[in-house]
Amino acid sequence: MKKIGVIGAGTMGNGIAHVNALAGYKVTLLDVKTEFLERGLAAISKNLKRQAAKGKISVETVEKALENISPTTEYNELGDADIVIEAATENSILKKEIFRKLDEICGSDTILGTNTSSISITEIAAVTSRPEWVVGVHFMNPVPMMKLVEVIRGYRTSQDSLEKILQYVSSLGKTPVQCNDFPGFVANRILMPMINEAVYALMEGVATKEAIDEIMKLGMAHPMGPLALADLIGLDVCLAIMEVLYRELGDCKYRPCPLLKKMVAAGMLGRKTGAGFYNYQKES
Ligand code: NAD
Repeated sequence: MKKIGVIGAGTMGNGIAHVNALAGYKVTLLDVKTEFLERGLAAISKNLKRQAAKGKISVETVEKALENISPTTEYNELGDADIVIEAATENSILKKEIFRKLDEICGSDTILGTNTSSISITEIAAVTSRPEWVVGVHFMNPVPMMKLVEVIRGYRTSQDSLEKILQYVSSLGKTPVQCNDFPGFVANRILMPMINEAVYALMEGVATKEAIDEIMKLGMAHPMGPLALADLIGLDVCLAIMEVLYRELGDCKYRPCPLLKKMVAAGMLGRKTGAGFYNYQKES
C-alpha cells in the first residue's frame, strides 16, 4: 500500500489525509471545489504545526507530510490508488454516485473504504462491481487525536479486504475494532441518541446548555459535554445520522429532536459555521 485517495476535504477528510500523510503514504485529496481543498490543506497545515509546537513531531516531518498530499478536483487522479477512503457529505445518494464513479476509475484490486457514520456499507457496495472490496473505515473526530477506527464489514466484504484494511489502519498508529453492518454501527448507535436526548433536554428547558454539558462531563467523566460534541461533529452530520437510525430501525426513540432540525435549517452547524449551541466567531 503506497497511495491513498481521500474524497472530501472537510472535517474528516482533512484529518484522514493528515494521518495518512504523516504515516508516509502518498495522498491524493479530492473535493469538488479548489476553495474546499485550500481550506482543508490550511487545516492540515495548522494541525501539523500544532503537533510540532507540542514536540510530538519535528518541523521536517511537518514539511514531509505536507509534501505527501496532492490536492485535486479530478476523479481520474485516483485511478492508481491502493485504497480510497470516501469522506464526503453524509448522504446516501451522493455516496452511491461517488462509488459508481470510483468503481469505473479505480483498478480492480483497489479497496474502496467509506467513512460513513451510519449509511449501510452493504448498500453502498452493491452499486459497485466489487462489493467484496468495499468496507467501512470509520475514523473518529478529531482524526489526528483519536485512536479508534471502527472497521465495518458489509454483507459481501471479503476476509481478504478486511484483513488488508485492518493492517492498513494499524500502520496509521490507530486501533481498528471490527463490527457488522447495522445502522449507525456501534459508535453512533450509542452516541447519537445521547446527543439527541441532550438537545431535547435543552429544548424542553430541563437545564441550560452549559449545565447539560457540565453534568455530563463531571457526572459521567466524558471529556466533552454532548452539546459541545455535537458542535464539533457538525449538527448536519448528527441530524443525518439520526435520520438514518430513525428510518432504518423504525423505532420512534430515534426521532430527531425538532430543535436539532431547526438549527440545521438555520445553517447553525456548529464549529464549521462559527455557531451551533455555542458561538465560535472569536476563534474563526
Ligand atoms: P464536512 O461537511 O465537513 O465535509 C464534507 C466534504 O465533502 C466537503 O468538503 C464537501 O465539499 C465534500 N464533498 C461533497 N460532495 C463531494 C463529492 N461528490 N466529491 C468529493 N467531495 C465532496 O463533513 P464531515 O464531517 O467531514 O463528514 C464526512 C463523512 O465523515 C460523513 O460521511 C460523516 O458522516 C463522516 N463522519 C463524520 C464525523 C464527524 O465528527 N464530523 C465523524 C466520523 C465520520
